[in-house]
Amino acid sequence: VKVILNDKIIDRSEAAIDIEDRGYQFGDGVYEVIRVYDGVLFTGDEHLERFYSSADKIKITVPFQKEELLELMNQLIQVNDVHDGSIYMQLTRGASPRNHVFPSADTKPVLTAYTKEVARPVESLENGVAAMVADDIRWLRCDIKSLNLLPNLLAKQAATEQGCYEAILHRNGLVTEGSASNAYIVVDGKIKTHPATNLILNGITRQVVARLCKENNIPFSEEAFTLEELRNADEIFVTSTTSEVMPVVKLDEREIGNGKPGQVTRKLQTLFVEEFESAKQA
Ligand code: PMP
Repeated sequence: VKVILNDKIIDRSEAAIDIEDRGYQFGDGVYEVIRVYDGVLFTGDEHLERFYSSADKIKITVPFQKEELLELMNQLIQVNDVHDGSIYMQLTRGASPRNHVFPSADTKPVLTAYTKEVARPVESLENGVAAMVADDIRWLRCDIKSLNLLPNLLAKQAATEQGCYEAILHRNGLVTEGSASNAYIVVDGKIKTHPATNLILNGITRQVVARLCKENNIPFSEEAFTLEELRNADEIFVTSTTSEVMPVVKLDEREIGNGKPGQVTRKLQTLFVEEFESAKQA
């Protein structure tokens, strides 16, 4: 299989990263995961936009034009013959003798990307999943899609050990998002999700869902909600690039609603499938 290393597509076995790469040593870099449906990137522009924005927020200059990068990603998808899968891309500040201070301006950022086949989680989408609540112990710039994911990993691992699909995080009783997803409640037909501040990652799936709600007159409010609202919600769902619109039917061992995916969640799932189906044709 082929991967991207800087401006080249090479065999994965030939890709070498310096042991003093700042991504490796400090998590000093940013990344994106983009979905591929039927060989076509879904919301590729939006993901690239966020990639540049994340890089900019930590003062890394992406050494490519957006069109070049998109072209490179599309080439990789083609040579690897990806059908339903994803592309992972990351950019680090580059390799330089270890020092917290940024390296000299001539240090080149390092771009890597690879693809894989990923099936849609159809069974979970159909039946819903369990989630647990956990403390959000992350830093205050969760809007940056940075490589530093330790708090997310700890939360996801705790969830997995509890037999849960996701950990839904809160700060002082206010729900922020999932460890690797955005989180939503539905009460009396109205959707609530945390506003896109520094405390969450503004998910691309979240942005698609917000637009679909608007287009279909589904009440959608960017308003933080409490743990109590979460526990008493009619419906809960989480969204992400690979989870799509995922119903949460159990929270900390208690059923949500009647323990089955709710109506509003179902409606959004249908709209979401229509959205990526029509994006494939475009
Ligand atoms: N929040 C966090 C912390 C995430 O890791 C992710 C997935 N990468 C998301 C939200 C969802 O973002 P997206 O819809 O762009 O995949």
